[in-house]
Amino acid sequence: MKYEFWLVVGSQFLYGNDVLETVDQRAREIASKLTEVLPYPVVYKVTAKTNKEVTDTVREANYDTSCAGIITWCHTFSPSKMWIDGIRDLLKPWCHFATQYNIEIPNEDIDMDFMNLNQAAHGDREHGFLGARLRKPRKIIAGHWTDENVHKRLSAWMRSAVGAAVSKDMKVMRFGDNMREVAVTEGDKVEAQIKLGWQVNTWAVGDLVKEMDAVTDAEIDELYKVYETSYDIATENTEAIRYQAREEIAIKKMMDREGCRAFSNTFQDLYGMEQLPGLASQHLMAQGYGYGGEGDWKVSALTAIMKAMGEGGNGASAFMEDYTYHLVPGSEYSLGAHMLEVCPSLAEGKPRIETHHLGIGMNAKDPARLVFEGKAGEGIVASLIDMGGRLRLIVQDIECVKPIMPMPNLPVARVMWRAKPDLATGVECWITAGGAHHTVLSYDVTAEMMRDWATMMDIEFVHITEDSTPEKLEDELFIKDIAWKLK
Ligand code: MN
Repeated sequence: MKYEFWLVVGSQFLYGNDVLETVDQRAREIASKLTEVLPYPVVYKVTAKTNKEVTDTVREANYDTSCAGIITWCHTFSPSKMWIDGIRDLLKPWCHFATQYNIEIPNEDIDMDFMNLNQAAHGDREHGFLGARLRKPRKIIAGHWTDENVHKRLSAWMRSAVGAAVSKDMKVMRFGDNMREVAVTEGDKVEAQIKLGWQVNTWAVGDLVKEMDAVTDAEIDELYKVYETSYDIATENTEAIRYQAREEIAIKKMMDREGCRAFSNTFQDLYGMEQLPGLASQHLMAQGYGYGGEGDWKVSALTAIMKAMGEGGNGASAFMEDYTYHLVPGSEYSLGAHMLEVCPSLAEGKPRIETHHLGIGMNAKDPARLVFEGKAGEGIVASLIDMGGRLRLIVQDIECVKPIMPMPNLPVARVMWRAKPDLATGVECWITAGGAHHTVLSYDVTAEMMRDWATMMDIEFVHITEDSTPEKLEDELFIKDIAWKLK
């Protein structure tokens, strides 16, 4: 899907045609500049002067699947009562862009004509009141339209809005149920569809095995070549790699047939399969599909959404699990990995394909998997949990490091990070908020983007930062619990 954003400019008839023509021309210029520098095109739709023009544009936006959001701005004063019906009915993400055409006040030239043409300073306040009065979620970005920081913020908001569009279109294919007895990976699929748009449904593992049996040698040869180009093959066991290719091709066919962008499976239900999909799941994730282990459909869909929000529409975001800690004073880190399935978009260097014995689950043969180290850099981990009656998105700021030891006997991909504000406080906060052991780790989706996404989806957002303490967080969660029950 190719997404675009619509620029809707507010005005009125009071100023005469000359002014309206100037506004129209400048709106075109701004849309064209923003299209040049932002990740998605900005299409100038209208300078709205009446209730009908606003509501017609909003209706069109609501029904146009390529429109991922609207950006509004008031070059001149635009009385807000004419925006009530449109904004009330708006179903797409909304950014109120409080900018103005000129960057400076022209000392010599400024007169009342200039003032009447360039009055965003009060036009945007009238526009802002209506958003506040309607309690309509919106992103407010203020600053000049040529400013780089403004571009960065608009770009991040656009990515969140695309995340919302992808979410509303999300279908998750489940193979097998939730891992027996696990609580945090459970959730209300009806609530998830109402709030997030996710269609989460199950397919039989037997159907997948049938699909696998129908994969041809030629298809496997072709995918094997892709593996050879992308990764270093560090095993003699080519049969195991070919088996993973067979699994990948079959899963992909089934997902594409159903329009699914994410899937989950469980090592407890691999009936008829020789290996837990490792390399298969990893390479599917590299192509932008979401994945969740142990039946975790929530983390699977969130992985696909965050990937779509990342750089180039398939960023460095991956299904992750907090595994074990390094608690040496002054050098405290989390080690994240999974049984097999860590997305190579996190990798520093070229991943290796290895085969090893896997003791957990039904694995008749040693599964092939990608092994690598994660990159260093700022990132986040995100977890979506079901609080009973509502969904809570928890995001924690982290600093990924090059793993401080080689761990030569660890047969899986690994990422090492320091949680904010520090490991112990960070863990206390995470546990206080109820965050899962499964997360999406991202290098290119920011906490602000996830906050905006949560606002668009109307779900609770909790952010653990450099400044968090368990005490402050407990108070925050207590207030939010009451607020969300009343909402
Ligand atoms: Mn797991």
